[in-house]
Amino acid sequence: MDQDVVEQIGTIVGENNYSTRIADRYTYGFDSSIHHVTPDIVVQPRSAEQVSNLVKLANRLKIPIVPRGAGTGLCGGAVPLKGGMVIDLTRMNAIKEVRVEDLYCVCEAGVVYDSLQKALAPFKFTFPPTPGSAEACTVGGMVATNASGMRAIKYGGTRDYVLGLEVVLPTGEIINVGTRTLKNASGYQLERLFVGSEGTLGIITQVTLRIVPKPKKMAMIVAGFDTLEKAGKCVSALIAKPLLPSAVELMDSTCIRAVNKAINAGLPDVAALCMIEVDGDPKVVADELAEVVKVAESIGAVGLQQSDDAGQMARWTNSRKSVMSALSRYGAGLVSVSLADDMAVPISKIPEAVVEFSRIADRYGVIVGTYGHAADGNLHTKMLLNPESPESWRNGEKAVRDIFDTCIRLGGTVTGEHGVGISKAPYFQKERATALGAMAAIKKALDPNNIMNPGKMQEWEGCIIQHLRYPCADQKN
Ligand SMILES: Cc1cc2nc3c(=O)[nH]c(=O)nc-3n(C[C@H](O)[C@H](O)[C@H](O)COP(=O)(O)OP(=O)(O)OC[C@H]3O[C@@H](n4cnc5c(N)ncnc54)[C@H](O)[C@@H]3O)c2cc1C
Repeated sequence: MDQDVVEQIGTIVGENNYSTRIADRYTYGFDSSIHHVTPDIVVQPRSAEQVSNLVKLANRLKIPIVPRGAGTGLCGGAVPLKGGMVIDLTRMNAIKEVRVEDLYCVCEAGVVYDSLQKALAPFKFTFPPTPGSAEACTVGGMVATNASGMRAIKYGGTRDYVLGLEVVLPTGEIINVGTRTLKNASGYQLERLFVGSEGTLGIITQVTLRIVPKPKKMAMIVAGFDTLEKAGKCVSALIAKPLLPSAVELMDSTCIRAVNKAINAGLPDVAALCMIEVDGDPKVVADELAEVVKVAESIGAVGLQQSDDAGQMARWTNSRKSVMSALSRYGAGLVSVSLADDMAVPISKIPEAVVEFSRIADRYGVIVGTYGHAADGNLHTKMLLNPESPESWRNGEKAVRDIFDTCIRLGGTVTGEHGVGISKAPYFQKERATALGAMAAIKKALDPNNIMNPGKMQEWEGCIIQHLRYPCADQKN
């Protein structure tokens, strides 16, 4: 990047708020995906006006921009594919208003999910999506990826809580979309347009979120099964009962073994298990627990454990949250990669999907751990690959293709919550084939110079085994 441009950026954000040092640029080339590309500059603005001035400059000079929250995204959304400027929003981290009487809060895009939860806790309120990355991910990143988590079955995902946004468009114009009211009737729902846009349409600088009271009581049941299929059947049987648990987490034997080995979680040694959480008024929780037990036993659950003790429930939840890191320590020379990591199928199709995933793993000789927020049909698979072996990557890629094809055939989607980025782009294009033209038209109208996160989602060309962060001999860069 020209020194003159660097100086203009410095004038906009001030000293200590940008860097062209190679160590900083290299670090900002990663998110939590398998991909890496080094940007030309990293900038940390402190206000929407600074963001606006940066974007105006970039638009004039056609410099690619990638907005970034905490970089916890799992599919390369924040990786600066075309170099250029990474705009890190984490210094815009003020919680500006908490208005429990109006059921909303307003915060800057860089506020971390857990910090917002801490601010809401004294009021006994919550912003429910609960992503597994809660300690780090930002509210802006959550909106940009429509993040959700284990409680989406009952409480929905981020999009269900976005009332309004402040956005810097690719021209640098600052706009406000949506409202602070729980209802707003007509007009294009532009706030929804930016939900899931993954930094391709503008930079979200401020978010107005609906908040809800925290449930009075929670309890959990852990139910083991002798097949993965039965665990899947338990999920759809609970929903069809009808019951509305606040979460049902599914784990297969690979994931159970991994967390037992890595953190001594003490989970039962079974083929699969469901962790079922119910919440609400104490009387309702007691009734629902009894019903959950009946349903689980009717499917053949073994070794049922039940608790409403906060410590025990936290240990169970933590063991589920540890799956991703535990799988990384599963076998010598293998790493757990985020490839087909986040599909969703109609809930009744879960048993068929999980059985097919096991067959696909066997077909290509790949170890696949299957887990997920199964109550809403959202399944994660993590593949264990040898990162230095081209053959391992090729087998992984074939398994990914077959897993995504299975999900599309079952009426599902390639991404339930993590987004598209690079890692899912070709399969997303297959799934949404009829919508790609409309997406491209919207992108062109808002971003005629294509400066915002270029080359991702509908624009991606090629296969997913590219721009790898690992030293692999024949990667296709
Ligand atoms: C251990 C772990 C567990 C996870 N669990 C979950 C889970 O349960 N549920 C879930 O949904 N996800 C989960 N994720 C994925 C990830 O945490 C979410 O996608 C999260 O919303 C990303 O937030 P971030 O601030 O890190 O965004 P980043 O990774 O920095 O960015 C993600 C995308 O959003 C864009 N973006 C970021 N900020 C802005 C902004 N202000 N304006 C415009 N675009 C922006 C980026 O360009 C990029 O395309 C998990 C990740 C990890 C590592």
